[in-house]
Amino acid sequence: MKTVNDVNFNNKKVLVRVDFNVPLNEDLEVTDATRIEAAKPTIFNILESGGSCILMSHLGRPKNREDQFSLRHIVHKATEIFGVQVKFCEDCIGSAAEEAVANLKEGEILLLENLRYYSEETEGNSDFAKKLAKLGDYYVNDAFGTAHRAHASTAVIARFFPSNKCFGLLLASEIVNVEKVLKDGKSPVTAIIGGAKVSSKITVIENILDKIDHLIIGGGMAFTFIKATGGNIGGSLVEEDKQDMALDILEKAKQKNVQVHLPVDVIAADSFSEFANITTEPADNIPEGWLGLDAGPRTNEQFADVIAASKTILWNGPVGVFEMEKFAEGTIKLGEAIAKATASGAFSLVGGGDSVAAVKQFKLSDKVSYVSTGGGAMLEMLEGKTLPGIQAIMD
Ligand code: AMP
Repeated sequence: MKTVNDVNFNNKKVLVRVDFNVPLNEDLEVTDATRIEAAKPTIFNILESGGSCILMSHLGRPKNREDQFSLRHIVHKATEIFGVQVKFCEDCIGSAAEEAVANLKEGEILLLENLRYYSEETEGNSDFAKKLAKLGDYYVNDAFGTAHRAHASTAVIARFFPSNKCFGLLLASEIVNVEKVLKDGKSPVTAIIGGAKVSSKITVIENILDKIDHLIIGGGMAFTFIKATGGNIGGSLVEEDKQDMALDILEKAKQKNVQVHLPVDVIAADSFSEFANITTEPADNIPEGWLGLDAGPRTNEQFADVIAASKTILWNGPVGVFEMEKFAEGTIKLGEAIAKATASGAFSLVGGGDSVAAVKQFKLSDKVSYVSTGGGAMLEMLEGKTLPGIQAIMD
């Protein structure tokens, strides 16, 4: 895998696709700069080896040139993070961009305006990609968050750089860390799959069954499994039409010698609310009118035991409605168990959606081995798909 570490950028104008799709508040200030921070190693690497950076990104989903989606709003934050005044060009192609690039000197950073001001970006338009490509001597993709999209700046553009293209350090580390689980995972390998719906995780589960020893199923999706095997789940979340699929997963797991762990008890509530009355019930015998919204204490212990004995851990999806304090305990306990196993030498990867929000919220990010930066992109990698943004660099 060729990365910026393998290239001498001396005197080169390097076109870098980054993911600066950051949240802004009402005053159009950046409220979470994680994605800007994540691009720092790649950008510094290029500048230190004598190049200049032309940064391309999207921000939100603009329909026209709406000001609220202008990347101008992040210039201040990016300048603060990189410690270099970030220049800005109010277009990403055409004469304004070409002039800004011509004036760019070694060690400087130029940020281009939102790529999605042009619908050609998401359409993967080749002419648009060519106009972008014209701006740089070298192409680097470091936008993991959009690597699963075959857009002009993430995939199509790479055709115009037959040999002068490589991975940025963020994108490379996302690939390496997924491979540590799916390719070279040390046994026992445990996957924890939680979240709301089994339908959104089915392809992930099917793809990982060959690579794991234990499968912990938690969260709302566990109830489709419990109901399918004859349990009473009260008013808990269920996908009625996915019960056969759940049974099929359990059968496949058995054939592949994967041990499946489902919740044995739950925190049941009389309404989906922080103010609900709660009780602890067996996961397969929840009274009518009550819904399971978190893993119960015995479940937490059992899950923790499996995790403690694991050498490789993948966590995708919370095991309860962790956004409400009353139903956060299971997810906190699970995160703590993963942190503890990590401290004892296990490799742990957290990725693909809400579990990332959970580790951040419960301040566990530094206690797991790797937290992925891309929700949808990570899910697609776990599904075993080759992402267009990754393939384009390999070609
Ligand atoms: P996902 O995006 O599929 O990973 O789902 C994450 C969502 O699942 C979170 O917003 C959780 O609140 C929700 N969730 C987790 N456990 C449950 C549950 N037992 N019942 C309903 N929703 C749940």
